[in-house]
Amino acid sequence: MLEYINCNLCGSNNFKILFPVDSSTYIGRCKDCGLVFRNPRVLESEILREISLDRIICEHEKKAWFDSKIHLFKSNLKRLERYIPNKGRLLDLGCGYGIFLKMAKDRGWQVEGIEIAQSALRYAQEVLGLKVYGTTLKEVRFPDKYFDVVTLWEVLGQLYDPQGTLKEINRILKPEGLIALRLHNADFHVSLQLLLERLNHPEKKLGLLPTVFHNYNFSPLTIKLMLKEAGFQEIKIYVSEFTKGDPYGSAGIFGDKVMRLIKVILFYLSQIIYYISFKRWIIAPSFLVFARKPKE
Ligand SMILES: [Zn+2]
Repeated sequence: MLEYINCNLCGSNNFKILFPVDSSTYIGRCKDCGLVFRNPRVLESEILREISLDRIICEHEKKAWFDSKIHLFKSNLKRLERYIPNKGRLLDLGCGYGIFLKMAKDRGWQVEGIEIAQSALRYAQEVLGLKVYGTTLKEVRFPDKYFDVVTLWEVLGQLYDPQGTLKEINRILKPEGLIALRLHNADFHVSLQLLLERLNHPEKKLGLLPTVFHNYNFSPLTIKLMLKEAGFQEIKIYVSEFTKGDPYGSAGIFGDKVMRLIKVILFYLSQIIYYISFKRWIIAPSFLVFARKPKE
């Protein structure tokens, strides 16, 4: 079943369709605040059931977790530890197989995770011996001011109520606690998709899958607005490193090697533009965000 929704950031129903995702749902933009999201969408209860039964694997492909994301997790953890020098309690929301959590645990963090996909959940609990809950964040009911850090690596855009989730994270973080996110950049993916539509989809003939869209697709501007609305401050945004190789088969007939080369060129180009624009322009396909809960 499908539901029509208002904007999760500003509540408006002023929605401009940009392009179709399939025969019945669209990606569009809120005309009032600029948030890009899917509308209408399949009911959350139906999607949660499919994910928990491992019928939707997207981010849970083992190759992505065990190979392509390792260096990303390492560099994200390193950057995060610059913000919070004392290693305390860390929650990873949508922790998958628990690879990032295990890495943080080995460096002295007390870690907990949340993951609803059964196979990933079982691996994190049974093979890695981690404390991971197989339910949604709100259902766990963590105490107030419990965590020092909450991480969401490519997770926020897949949720049904990102604003409500950010407010819940703000509640369970200690004062001056840190939220860290990796997000796909809506500015990059929407521009590229609109260009491909105009060129009559050359990517389809080549088997390319260059763009990614989730329920919500944030730009640096819209995530800043939503984090502020949820009570965060000191928001910092960086160009994210890329996943290694081509774990999602986006390169079509060009294959892994060409994808690696494109990623290297795009990464350095994005970094140059980021620094010459005084850290204002992010042209990369994904970015990192760090923000803090205020002092009491
Ligand atoms: Zn809006």
